[in-house]
Amino acid sequence: MAKRENNRIQTPLREVVLISLNELTLHESIDLLNKSPGELEKLIKDLYAKIDDREPDVQAYLEIADRDELLKSAREFLDRPLKGIPGTIKDNIQTLGFKTTCGSKFLEDFNSVYDATVIKSLKDAGSPVLGKANLDEFAMGSSTENSYFQTTRNPHDLSRVPGGSSGGSAAAVAADEAIYALGSDTGGSVRHPAALCGVVGLKPTYGLVSRYGLTAFASSLDQIGPITKDVYDAALLLNYLARQDEMDSTSAAENTPDYTRGIDRGVEEFKVGFPNEYFGEELDAGIREQAKKWRKTFEKLGADVVDISLPHTEYAIATYYIIASSEASANLARFDGVRYTSRAETNSIEELFSLSRDEGFGPEVKRRILLGTYALSAGYYDEYYGKAQKSRRLIKRDFDRAFDDVDLIAAPASPTPAFEIGEKVEDPLEMYLSDIFIVPVNLAGIPAMSVPGGEVDDLPVGLQIMGGSLAEKKILRAGYAFEKTFEN
Ligand code: GLN
Repeated sequence: MAKRENNRIQTPLREVVLISLNELTLHESIDLLNKSPGELEKLIKDLYAKIDDREPDVQAYLEIADRDELLKSAREFLDRPLKGIPGTIKDNIQTLGFKTTCGSKFLEDFNSVYDATVIKSLKDAGSPVLGKANLDEFAMGSSTENSYFQTTRNPHDLSRVPGGSSGGSAAAVAADEAIYALGSDTGGSVRHPAALCGVVGLKPTYGLVSRYGLTAFASSLDQIGPITKDVYDAALLLNYLARQDEMDSTSAAENTPDYTRGIDRGVEEFKVGFPNEYFGEELDAGIREQAKKWRKTFEKLGADVVDISLPHTEYAIATYYIIASSEASANLARFDGVRYTSRAETNSIEELFSLSRDEGFGPEVKRRILLGTYALSAGYYDEYYGKAQKSRRLIKRDFDRAFDDVDLIAAPASPTPAFEIGEKVEDPLEMYLSDIFIVPVNLAGIPAMSVPGGEVDDLPVGLQIMGGSLAEKKILRAGYAFEKTFEN
C-alpha cells in the first residue's frame, strides 16, 4: 500500500497518476476518475499487473474476473457513484458469474446462482467484482490455512499467515491486489485478518448489513463487513452496504445515516475505555507497548481515556465456540451430497449422505459439526448450549454497562501479530485462542473496527475500536482521527 501523509489525496493530480493506480484507496480512485474518467482503464490494468506480480506468492484469490469483461462492465458503471472501481469478494458470498466455493472441496464446482444483496448494492452503486478471495473452509479458522484450495500468505512476511477467516480479502487489500474487499465476521473474521495484514476491517452491528447470499455459518453471529486501505473507505462502503433487506429477516437497518458525514469531527467529546481484561498475560509484550501509544494518541486527540472492566471476557472463547459450532452443525446439514455439492459415488442413499460429507468437508469443519452436535444433543444441551447462552447474556451485559459510561472501547484486535504458517494447525485450541479479543463483540451483536495500530517486529498489529449497537459513526470518527494522528 502506498504510504500517505494522510488519507485524502492532496498531491496534484500529476503526481498521483505517476503511482500505480491499484495503490489508491477507493475514495482516492473516485476523486481521480471524477477528474479523468479515462484513467479507469489504467486502474484496472494496474490491478491485474499487481495480481500477476504478487499472486504467485500471496495466493489471495480463488478466482479472478476476465480482464476484458471486467473492463467492459466497469466502463458501463462510470456514471455511478463508485465509478466502475471493482471490489474483491470473500468466496462465501454469492456472486453471479463466479463460483462460491466457501473454500471447500464440497463446493469446488458450485456456480453462484444469484447475486447476494451486498453484491447487488455494490453493483447498483457502480462497483463490479474483480475476483473471489480465499478463506478458511466455511469461514472456520483464524489463519486461512483451513482452505481446501491454498494457504494465503501474509504480504508483510510470506512465511506467516494473513489471519482469518477472510485472509484472502485482507491480503489482497494489503498487497494492493484489490482496492477494497468484503469479508464476513462471525467471530472476528473481518477484524482479525485486517489486523494481521495492516488494513482496516469493520464489523457492523448485527443486522445492519443484509446476509442474503452469504453462506450461513452461525446465524446469530454472522455479519458482512468491508476491508479497506483506510477508515474513510470503510465509511463510504458502509453507505452502500447498510440497507434494509426483505430477503434477510434479521436486517435491521432503517434510515441509515451518511457514514462519511462528520467523520472528521474528532474525538474530543468522547470517553474511551480500555478494558483491563484485554491486557492479561496472553497479550504479546510488543502489542502491550503499542497499546500505551494508542492510549496517548487518544489523549492527545482530546478524548477522555479511562480504564474499564468487562468481567466476563474470560468466558467468551468457550461461549463462542459452543454457540458458533452448534449453529454451524445445523446450518451445514444442508450439504448432503444431494443438493448444491459434489456427491460421493454410491448406490445407497444413506451412504450418499455420509460418504459425501466425509469426502467433502475438511477436518476443522468436521470438528465443529461434531462439537456442535454434541453440545445440542439431549442430555448435554443444558450443560453446554444452555450454559453458553447464559454466559452470552452476561458478556452482552458487560458491554451494556460499559457503554452506559463510555462512548467507545479500545483494545487490541489480536493477542499476537501474524504467526508462522503451520505454527498452530496441529493445536486447534491454540488457534481458537487467537480470537479471544474479537469474539465478545459478535456475541453482543455490537460493531467494532480494527485499524492499523503500528508494527511489532515489523509485523502490523491492530487497534480494535468497539461501540454500542449502531454506533458505527462514532467508531468511524474515532478511527479516522486515530489514523491521522497515530505514529508508530
Ligand atoms: N476464528 C473464528 C472461527 O473459526 C472466525 C469465524 C468467522 O468470523 N468467520 O470460528
